[in-house]
Amino acid sequence: MTMQNVGRPTRPEGASETAGFQSLTGGRGLLQDEPLIFELGGWSKTGVDLPEPDQDASDLAGLTRADLPLPGLSEPEAMRHYVRLSQKNHAIDLALYPLGSCTMKHNPRLNEKAARLPGFADLHPLAPVATAQGALALMDRLAHWLKTLTGMPAVALSPKAGAHGELCGLLCIKAAHEAAGQGHRRTVLVPTSAHGTNPATAAFVGYTVAEIAQTPDGRVDLADLELKLGPDVAAIMVTNPNTCGLFERDILEISRLTHAAGAYFYCDGANFNAIVGRVRPGDLGVDAMHINLHKTFSTPHGGGGPGAGPVVLSEALAPFAPAPWVVSSAEGFELVEEPTAEAAQAFGRMCAFHGQMGMFVRAYAYMLSHGSDGLRQVAEDAVLNANYVKARLADVMTPAFPDGPCMHEALFDDRWLDGTGVTTLDFAKAMIDEGFHPMTMYFPLVVHGAMLIEPTETESRRELDRFCEALRALANAARGNDKDRFKAAPHLAPLRRLDETLAARKPRLAWKPETLAAE
Ligand SMILES: *Cc1c(COP(=O)(O)O)cnc(C)c1O
Repeated sequence: MTMQNVGRPTRPEGASETAGFQSLTGGRGLLQDEPLIFELGGWSKTGVDLPEPDQDASDLAGLTRADLPLPGLSEPEAMRHYVRLSQKNHAIDLALYPLGSCTMKHNPRLNEKAARLPGFADLHPLAPVATAQGALALMDRLAHWLKTLTGMPAVALSPKAGAHGELCGLLCIKAAHEAAGQGHRRTVLVPTSAHGTNPATAAFVGYTVAEIAQTPDGRVDLADLELKLGPDVAAIMVTNPNTCGLFERDILEISRLTHAAGAYFYCDGANFNAIVGRVRPGDLGVDAMHINLHKTFSTPHGGGGPGAGPVVLSEALAPFAPAPWVVSSAEGFELVEEPTAEAAQAFGRMCAFHGQMGMFVRAYAYMLSHGSDGLRQVAEDAVLNANYVKARLADVMTPAFPDGPCMHEALFDDRWLDGTGVTTLDFAKAMIDEGFHPMTMYFPLVVHGAMLIEPTETESRRELDRFCEALRALANAARGNDKDRFKAAPHLAPLRRLDETLAARKPRLAWKPETLAAE
């Protein structure tokens, strides 16, 4: 298997042939083409009818802006704009979302209802604690269950996403090393299959990143780990189950070797969905692990979040946890906010307030509604569904690691496309024409032309079959010389092949009338 270091290939917009039929206005079926909101409506229009102010004079000493360029739309125009945009977007409520390393699962409406209760939704982060006892109680219970499910003694709730949690964990590790006179440890070891946030976080904290090799069966290479562990190593960051969808079989040995070398074991817990209720990371020797509430505990994500990334900590790291945290006494719940007393060694704070309260409520509602048996079943069904997909596609596509079962995601490479002229990207784009969001492509980088599929536990057998039938039909078409279907795909999407590299490298973040006029 060869390394793929070039990233994902993209093609400039317009390079693919157009589909046979073009409407005159860019509309498709009942879906109209939709401009930016700033291109709609004049500035002078508003959706409300307000009386003229009875005095003209401004009390802002002439600092008012005369022409604030806000779009003017009537209420139905504004409604239609956003509803049309929403129709162009894919959603977990429309179909299975096969993205791997993401756990995009159904978000029960019960969670949403709980998060909208005024006592949670309308609470100000600076409200006196005496008026926020219910919210603090919920944070305390959530912390309890996160510690119980992971078998870890402490948790920092405030990090706002997985990557933010990684930062929190590494800052705890750094503080612990410095407190022990080990501040000279400057290296973090990361396996080649790691998610990009792992090396990025380590670099952000100021560490040097060194890679640990992978075995042919997709796991951490113990011999290479042993070779690289030394007096300069501060921590290792290992994802378990890993990004190839495989359980790290030697996890106990990994943690033993790491601790013997005086380093800490950071576990990337983004894939906790696959083992929740079955495996407690604390029993595996983990020192710090973030939990993406938006992946494991079913809070909405995609489209920019918000997420929540609480970090569970071992006894050794707990004293360095960032403020604030919730404590309880006979008088009720309090917040520890200052770096004194039991928080004397806290490394600081991760954010201004307490974290993502709305996500805490959703995650807690999800935990309570599932119960301990339900959470265990989540992991079992997530793994079962991924293995079902792997088994149903194994004869038409090539599993990257065919031997043995996978965990919560099924990983395929592109060997089965050899000689067809169709690439992973083409195949993924053709899925859009069949009504499915593409799977994660070209990740992990260690697998050539990777296609990573994570169905999650919330898909029924019928939905899984629909998905597998679509992929089987496409796979047969790819191997049956139907190359044009793939090269020009997606034929039916509102936009076709975008120049994603250009969009990422030179994002145009502000709309300016002149820019549009000039083009
Ligand atoms: C999603 C993910 C992350 C980052 O989490 P965010 O919440 O997106 O910041 C880190 N590692 C792995 C393996 C992931 O899948």
